[in-house]
Amino acid sequence: MTLPLFAVYGASGYGREVMPLAREQLRHQGISAEQLVFVDDHSEVQMMNGQRVLRYAEFLQAEASARHAVLAIANSAIREKLAARCAENRVLPWTVAAANVVMLDDAVLGEGAVLSPFAMLTSNIRIGRYFHANIYSYVAHDCVIGDFVTFAPGVKCNGNVLIEDHAYIGTGAVIKQGKPGHPLVIGRGAVVGMGAVVTRDVPAGATVVGNPAKPFIKG
Ligand code: UDP
Repeated sequence: MTLPLFAVYGASGYGREVMPLAREQLRHQGISAEQLVFVDDHSEVQMMNGQRVLRYAEFLQAEASARHAVLAIANSAIREKLAARCAENRVLPWTVAAANVVMLDDAVLGEGAVLSPFAMLTSNIRIGRYFHANIYSYVAHDCVIGDFVTFAPGVKCNGNVLIEDHAYIGTGAVIKQGKPGHPLVIGRGAVVGMGAVVTRDVPAGATVVGNPAKPFIKG
């Protein structure tokens, strides 16, 4: 009998953190770890942390009734490129969430997400495709998050915040809450530096750092 194959795409730092979550998720579904592989376009090794490592072409050639992949690469532009490639080859988007993730009422998550251990999505939240919430990150009530948004570890995103596509929020950043009907907005492709305290809107494409967060000027 031909079985489905599951992949963690990206066999570097984040991929190695996502793999055990993926393995555990499949175990709960009664799916063998033998049906789980790393996929990486550049890896030189054939095994990593007990799992096979395949090139993408090998993954497509492997016998499988269906192929699923979670994109475990923090760079959102790469995620978008790989999502398009997977869609072309009928590789299905796969969401992997740690067993201890907490989601409260009406938290809607798009396809292909990764929710790392201790991530929390509270109530009345909308999140787009291919979101990453790294360890200990939270999204509070009434937030709206676009596609390919990345939270590094320990991001505190308070209520009524709007985050547009491809924004990257660095480790330990704190985002002040907005108001109902008047969210604090982090624009498309903006970067919030690690430890920043964001108290006002961040324009699209801007990088902000510090407390209170201000535009980063290279010096
Ligand atoms: N990668 C890939 N195909 C691509 C781009 C990246 O397979 O088109 C792999 C790359 O070989 C590396 C991983 O994705 O193993 C990205 O690793 P990196 O350390 O840059 O990111 P992180 O794991 O920190 O998100």
